[in-house]
Amino acid sequence: MKQLLSEDEIRGGIHRLAAQLTERYRDRPLTVIGVLTGSMVLVADLIRQLDLPLRVGVIQVRSYRGAATTPGPLEINDSMLPDIRGRDVLLVDDIFDTGHTLARLIEQMHELGPSSLRSAVLLRKLGRQQVSIEPDYVAFNIPDVFVVGYGLDYQDAYRHLPYVAALDDDDLAAGPLA
Ligand code: 5GP
Ligand code: MG
Repeated sequence: MKQLLSEDEIRGGIHRLAAQLTERYRDRPLTVIGVLTGSMVLVADLIRQLDLPLRVGVIQVRSYRGAATTPGPLEINDSMLPDIRGRDVLLVDDIFDTGHTLARLIEQMHELGPSSLRSAVLLRKLGRQQVSIEPDYVAFNIPDVFVVGYGLDYQDAYRHLPYVAALDDDDLAAGPLA
């Protein structure tokens, strides 16, 4: 496992992101929606830096990756989503890879009538996008490697790491916690 972003670098990135968002929304109430499970660490750190009237909620997406690191069909569970009609909403996810997850979420959430809907991600993988949309806010662009830590998992392991690390082929072959 090779560290890609240190705790300090991540803290700096979140700080910059929070400053941009605080400026963008000024004193308008914002509803932050975290995409479970990968965004939980990011959401926890980001919301405590936002100097805005804030609501926080979650939505769940599963992509049936399982052992594989390539995406499968998406299942969206919005049963925990708060009412977003007429609200300014910021969707927060861990990583923008092919982009299918964020594109589908944005499409589905638009139907619920928010007054605005923007998106922020911690990481954006370079050269992987297959959709026409881009996240409105990106803390870090990274190369096309499989990363874990700071909320991101490999078979539900490594989410608690305070840094972001790339797994190499041997790590992936051995499986998590091997
Ligand atoms: P997309 O739909 O943009 O291809 O993929 C987004 C989702 O795939 C992320 O929310 C994340 O759950 C997963 N994903 C994509 N790339 C990585 C990665 O490098 N590491 C981990 N742990 N998950 C990833
Ligand atoms: Mg995941």
